[in-house]
Amino acid sequence: MAVQWILVCHVLVTLLVAISFLCGHWPIFQGTFIESINYFITFSAYDYFKRFVEVVFGSRGTDAILFVEYFCCDRPNPILQIIYLAIIGSTYYIIVKSSFSYIPGYYLSEVHRYTSLLAVSVGILLFLLTSFSDPGTVNAENVSHYLSAYPYDNMIFVEKECSTCKILKPARSKHCSICHRCVARFDHHCAWMNNCIGERNTRYFMAFLLWHFLLCLYGTVAIGLILAGEMKELKVIYILTVYYEMENSFRSLAPHVVQWLLVSYNTQILIMVFLAIISLLLAGFFGYHANLCRTNTTTNETFKWEEYLSWRRKAHEAKASAAALKASISGLRKERKPRESKWKAFFRRSYLGDVEIVKDNIYDKGCLHNLRDIIFPLSTRPSFSQAKLKSG
Ligand SMILES: [Zn+2]
Ligand SMILES: [Zn+2]
Repeated sequence: MAVQWILVCHVLVTLLVAISFLCGHWPIFQGTFIESINYFITFSAYDYFKRFVEVVFGSRGTDAILFVEYFCCDRPNPILQIIYLAIIGSTYYIIVKSSFSYIPGYYLSEVHRYTSLLAVSVGILLFLLTSFSDPGTVNAENVSHYLSAYPYDNMIFVEKECSTCKILKPARSKHCSICHRCVARFDHHCAWMNNCIGERNTRYFMAFLLWHFLLCLYGTVAIGLILAGEMKELKVIYILTVYYEMENSFRSLAPHVVQWLLVSYNTQILIMVFLAIISLLLAGFFGYHANLCRTNTTTNETFKWEEYLSWRRKAHEAKASAAALKASISGLRKERKPRESKWKAFFRRSYLGDVEIVKDNIYDKGCLHNLRDIIFPLSTRPSFSQAKLKSG
């Protein structure tokens, strides 16, 4: 039984670290120990490690760290791509080794031996497609097409030249400092894909997220059905109620069934919990990006909007306080305005912020139109190359 408890502790600690690392910076964890763990993993631990190396190995040690850091974070490299392939490959291998002997079972037919392989292959195919497709590189040849396809909104995008590529930056594009190129409708540089996510491959990226969410869900449900089938075939409930004379209720049977599962099928339980957690994380990530696609916004633009709106608010506040000062000087201001509560101000701001984004985003042309822009990017349409002929 002690081994099982070690396994359970291991799973809990792994989950805590994984959730803290991946989601600790989310607003819902603000001020909690999850945020503290996230800060430690992403910042303090590395800082301590650097100081430790400096003390032990001196400047040669820190130089080596800086070189590794440069290679891993500031240059395209396939480390995370290899890790992704290792994770998906080893997880599938463990599932085949530990659970395929139960297929066909009471609830699962033999076809799942083949559909699972097909589902994993499609997942890897989508990964390769996102990784090695052109995200929409802007160069001297196509920049004029992009300039006419993506007009400036003169709020978050104004006419500007890329200092590295020496070409005009079309609206919604960004220069990726890791790949050293300008990318149209830039979303973010994805380290897992070792590629930018931009105008031409957001569709593959979204398909990748959705497919992997469904894949993990499929795995969780299939293993759940294997365990349910085993319980049925081994007549566990029958044995517990008839031979051990237990009361036939969920409350009295559940602890014994769970104990039996943990002892006899601990590998399957671990894989199931792992897949369920990953599918939840993927669902969250897909939901976030699907909402961006729905409103025709990119991750890069959400930062730019935040910056722009805070600048506009500050300008507005400065104007208001100047007016108030003027009024108080001329003696017109007799009554002091009651101070607004912090909470109310916070909600008013975030609510107004959202409304302003929806109102001001000229690229949001309605849900269906926005979706069409993702699935059929502007640069893949015949009208794209004709745009230059008209203007030039
Ligand atoms: Zn550039
Ligand atoms: Zn990039």
